[in-house]
Amino acid sequence: MEPALLLLVPLSSYRTDDFLAAAARLGVPVVVGSDLCHAVEERFGARAGELSLDYRHPERAARRVVELAAERRIGGIVPTDEGTAIIAALAAAELGLRHNPPEATRRAANKHLQRQALREAGLPVPPFSLHPLAEGPERAARQAPYPCVLKPLGLSASRGVIRADDPAGFLAAFRRIEALLGEARAERRPRDEAGGRAILVEGFVPGAEIALEGLLREGALEVLAIFDKPDPLDGPFFEETIYVTPSRHPEGERRAAADLVARAARALGLCEGPVHAELRLSRDGPVVLEVAARSIGGLCARTLRFGAGLSLEELVIAHAMGLPGSSLSRERRAAGVMMLPIPRGGVLHGVGGLEAARAVLGIEDVVITVPEGREVKPLPEGDAYLGFAFARGEEPAEVEASLRAAHARLRIDIRPPLPTV
Ligand code: ADP
Ligand code: CA
Repeated sequence: MEPALLLLVPLSSYRTDDFLAAAARLGVPVVVGSDLCHAVEERFGARAGELSLDYRHPERAARRVVELAAERRIGGIVPTDEGTAIIAALAAAELGLRHNPPEATRRAANKHLQRQALREAGLPVPPFSLHPLAEGPERAARQAPYPCVLKPLGLSASRGVIRADDPAGFLAAFRRIEALLGEARAERRPRDEAGGRAILVEGFVPGAEIALEGLLREGALEVLAIFDKPDPLDGPFFEETIYVTPSRHPEGERRAAADLVARAARALGLCEGPVHAELRLSRDGPVVLEVAARSIGGLCARTLRFGAGLSLEELVIAHAMGLPGSSLSRERRAAGVMMLPIPRGGVLHGVGGLEAARAVLGIEDVVITVPEGREVKPLPEGDAYLGFAFARGEEPAEVEASLRAAHARLRIDIRPPLPTV
């Protein structure tokens, strides 16, 4: 049998379909690993093409993968988030597949370990300190470098990331993150237990924010795309909205940013596979906020097309499987995505104006990913976007205008949840 790709997906991911479609186009058979019902599977055995893994225990999950590989040849492993990146690294190392060192994926997945690694490598980092929840916030509030940002170590999508400008704001933010981490523990979501019991505090880095999508091959970074985030991200919460590529920042700044991401990846020890980095372009030069050992999240990868029309998922799978490399140059046109924010908490009754939004010049699609009837929460507690709008055009400014116009046409109907009796 041909070697299969093992795709490790989180609990809920509407992106799985994009990966499966990419694998089908490449003619690569897929086994999907997930954390859905490992307890059931451990008793009754796996269904063909599926593997259930206990994501809370990376070593145990990796051992399951190695067991599977004895029956079904695995040619590559593609993780889709920070937690699965650790499992993929452990299993791939054991199986002799292309991989990052497991320690590198652990450093990348923990915001405090990441900051330490970057600082040790002499890269620019804001002042930072770690505060165990058990110690309470009072001393930390007195010492914090204001304005500062408080954040959990192992969540993502800006969940629980809060800016504080003074000690009162610090105390409120600390309590709010503490409550959120308590809930995440109850949902058994945190990537590691220790990470759920401390808060990282770091200096707020002002400046325009960009994201860099790259592919590491034998330690060398290929830049796939640089996205501008034209909406200001000044807090107190950091909701992502519009991403537009190519970047409109001067070439020198883009080059400095790419160079810094390459050094940050090296400092973390990452060497193979996709990276998604976020940076601020500060007055003193670029500062890395984060390098993740995965490709861009949500459905945002749909903005990217390479060479003769390959998707980002195809590039990532081809690299993991060791298939012959192809062109990594992005199409010439501008492209963008808007992550549709959740304006308030409640129950989603529906989204009107979809056809009108799709009819805006330059808009390719508008997708609502939250089902009607589902309860939604805005940031900092929320963990999902309402959906995504996609646009293409000749120039980045056009793309940005299309996305704003489409968003303005949406009527988002969120109502208070019915009181429970
Ligand atoms: P997540 O993994 O949840 O995305 P990040 O650490 O990347 O967490 O923070 C999310 C967002 O919060 C960033 O994209 C940025 O806009 C903002 N942010 C985080 N840390 C800082 C900081 N030190 N200075 C300025 N903005 C920050
Ligand atoms: Ca981030």
